[in-house]
Amino acid sequence: MNSQEWFARATAVMPGGVNSPVRAFKAVGGTPPFIASASGAYLQTVEGRRLIDFISSWGAIIYGHADEAVVKAVTDAVVDGTSFGAPSPGEVEVAELITELVPSIEVVRLVNSGTEATMSAARLARGATGRDVIVKFEGCYHGHADAFLVQAGSGGATFGEPNSPGVPAGTVATTRVVTYNDLAAVEQALTPGDVACVIVEPVAGNMGVVPPAEGFLDGLRSLCDKHGALLIFDEVMTGFRVARGGAQERYGITPDLTCLGKIVAGGAAAAAYGGRADLMRLISPDGGVYQAGTLAGNPIAVAAGLATLRKLRVDDALYSDLERRGSHLQSRLEDALAEAGVLGCVQRVGAMLTVFFGVDTVENWEDAARLDTDAFAQYFQAALDGGVMLPPSAYEAMFLTASHTDEVIDRAADILVAAIHGLAS
Ligand SMILES: *Cc1c(COP(=O)(O)O)cnc(C)c1O
Repeated sequence: MNSQEWFARATAVMPGGVNSPVRAFKAVGGTPPFIASASGAYLQTVEGRRLIDFISSWGAIIYGHADEAVVKAVTDAVVDGTSFGAPSPGEVEVAELITELVPSIEVVRLVNSGTEATMSAARLARGATGRDVIVKFEGCYHGHADAFLVQAGSGGATFGEPNSPGVPAGTVATTRVVTYNDLAAVEQALTPGDVACVIVEPVAGNMGVVPPAEGFLDGLRSLCDKHGALLIFDEVMTGFRVARGGAQERYGITPDLTCLGKIVAGGAAAAAYGGRADLMRLISPDGGVYQAGTLAGNPIAVAAGLATLRKLRVDDALYSDLERRGSHLQSRLEDALAEAGVLGCVQRVGAMLTVFFGVDTVENWEDAARLDTDAFAQYFQAALDGGVMLPPSAYEAMFLTASHTDEVIDRAADILVAAIHGLAS
């Protein structure tokens, strides 16, 4: 059965034929290839086509697909049972490793998804401060919990309007949305003194890659301190990716709470939130802020996460290789844009990179909203025809893994450069 036939079956029984919206290819058109297996930097479709993968499970994969250490750890774990609903040693080992690699996390709780991590961290911030308002940034994604499904109105501090039916207006009445990289707007949002937390992607990745402006994260830290709000870094994407210790290590800023996901579970289903011990001790059963999970800390996800974190803990080459290869890919794409005379720019932090078409810089959502999405769709399809699987949306990041060797990057760059030249003709 080919992808088209699978997709027809899928759409009959699943919304859009998928279990997460962007996979349906609505933004780029066509039928998503169905994946039979994956290995290293490659996906294999049900038709037997091999594609160089830059989705990398939306950043969850750092050592390439079916990494030997992860596969072995999971295989060893699974025969001992898939879930106990009672404490097990692996949970302790992974928690210890997280607190070692991300020092601002003194105490940590494992959950099942990034959505749960951010939702729980926000509840904790509200419980700890006795305040209700959450400040978030336009264009930042923190999972699909109600409180975060808000888009900004006009610029500046504003109370949000839900951007999904089903989110009660009352739920988002306490979410204040401000412009990314705009400290004056943050200050204004904090001034009433009712803010529990500011939550931020320290490198934005969910409007394409938007690095924090010089002084932005520093400014958030001091504004939060000044106004008695907690600073939450949502490092679900950036954790263990932009540096071993995440964006907080790369930029030298210490948040109060951190959300992790994706890489922390090595491509299996787990996430985590943690931070200052005095805050985390407010979580049940130490404290009264309730949060629980039937499958939280399950041995399969824990095994995959442990294998990944143990590997990257002692891997001295990983982050310098990712940086060098990311930089090489960036220059090739920038050169192609210039040579082809295509308006666009490439923004990158470490192993996450976005090619933006139709704009020469993106510093916030207002810039991102001006992207040429038609150009992106054409570029995407040309890349796919050539054998490269990009994230199927103009507002996403490409993710490099350790399996994206110099050779793989060069082959991918040839295909992407040709796709860019195709836009000029
Ligand atoms: C992916 C992501 C989430 C949501 O994680 P899920 O596991 O998909 O629920 C939250 N925050 C950021 C920054 C993410 O990139």
